Amino acid sequence: MIGGLLVVGGIATAAKFGEKPDNPQLPGVPWVVHDGTRPQPKKVETQGVVSVLPPADAKVLFDGTNLDAWTSPDWEVRDGIMIAANKNLQTKDTFRDFQMHIEWRIPADREVDGQKGGNSGIFLMDLYEVQILACYENKSYPDGQAGGMYGQYPPLVNASRPKGEWNSYDLVFKAPRYEGEKMVEPAKLTLFHNGVLLHNAKEYQGPTQHKKLASYPATHPERGPIRLQWHRDPVEYRNVWIREVGDYDEE
Ligand code: MG
Repeated sequence: MIGGLLVVGGIATAAKFGEKPDNPQLPGVPWVVHDGTRPQPKKVETQGVVSVLPPADAKVLFDGTNLDAWTSPDWEVRDGIMIAANKNLQTKDTFRDFQMHIEWRIPADREVDGQKGGNSGIFLMDLYEVQILACYENKSYPDGQAGGMYGQYPPLVNASRPKGEWNSYDLVFKAPRYEGEKMVEPAKLTLFHNGVLLHNAKEYQGPTQHKKLASYPATHPERGPIRLQWHRDPVEYRNVWIREVGDYDEE
């Protein structure tokens, strides 16, 4: 996902705050994909990171010491933090329906402009991006802001903290359900950012796309890894864990 680059009439232009790019119309709303004229989410000042420690049945993905839970661990671990570098980071394990906690920070010295400078993201099942972006002062198209369901829905509000401060996401994801090659229940996301609700069981329109409408493919994996995005910015992470969500009355 190369953030912000659009090719219109052969000329590469950036999708910017305040501008309507030449992208497909989103269903049910008057805006196009990555529409810079879509209303900016209302800003909500928060008290900052909500640091929930992993419960006993969680799978710890990063506790500050090592990258053992991840494949191709190119990222740097320093002072209890893991720092994005070189390429995407992907879990060894796969997941279907889950609760996840993750804390992230844009380094204070990053120069940011739109989708550049402070961009990462969490790909649920390797397919559905929850955006991470410096958004306290920086403006970008709303469906690409921090907590956005990238290219589909902006966050309900902007709960970002400034660069140099930690943020938390607590999310609940339910994978889509299929009967044969028919999608019968879309993927759903509930997300809290620093304790503030950004999505309430919101349905993904399909796996994340860039500059295109999302839709559900005929075949879809039952489970998938978590992928953290390398977008050429050294975004920092700590305290990452996940718990699979089962059904009632399971023993
Ligand atoms: Mg991203």
